[in-house]
Amino acid sequence: MSSHRIGLLALQGDYEAHGKALVRAGFPRCDMVEIRSFSDLQFLTAIIIPGGESTVMSMLLERFGMFEELKRQIENGMPVLATCAGLILLAKNIEGNDQMGLGVLDIKVKRNAYGRQVDSFHAPVQTIIDSVGIIEGIFIRAPRILASGKEVEHLAIYENEPVMVRQGSIIAATFHPELLPDAPVHRWFIQTFV
Ligand code: GLN
Repeated sequence: MSSHRIGLLALQGDYEAHGKALVRAGFPRCDMVEIRSFSDLQFLTAIIIPGGESTVMSMLLERFGMFEELKRQIENGMPVLATCAGLILLAKNIEGNDQMGLGVLDIKVKRNAYGRQVDSFHAPVQTIIDSVGIIEGIFIRAPRILASGKEVEHLAIYENEPVMVRQGSIIAATFHPELLPDAPVHRWFIQTFV
């Protein structure tokens, strides 16, 4: 049996797309586990927090008694790949609503920040990761990162703003790399952290 166990937070949102992206990146399905309860959170090598609706995810984490345990594990260094709503959930500062977040990633975010007319769009995104390069950013009711602390490295830029960041082993993107056909971000995440 492999010693790796990647958790897909499966309370809500597009966790299934992340599972498929991990498979495309060469990670075996049998080493993934869908996380829906406190006990599922044990013995994880890494966790993926998907896009979806951050308010709902936060509420369900609380309701199922998972909020504090997830926060504790991330603070203890468990690698995380988070996208969109997942990034919002990790943020220390959520404009207009500080209470709901896990508060582990030193960024300030604004939800649904591109305005209604450009609710969703695709645009090329330049990353600083050699194996990833320039990728298509798929932004779906995306947040914007308004500020970030000095521990936070900017891994990708769109229109002079960070759209993918790293703080230690926390990786978070405002867009949806799980929807790319070749899953380069997932491949890099696995190679680097798992
Ligand atoms: N707008 C959503 C939120 O605020 C995020 C959208 C997404 O994850 N695609 O949680």
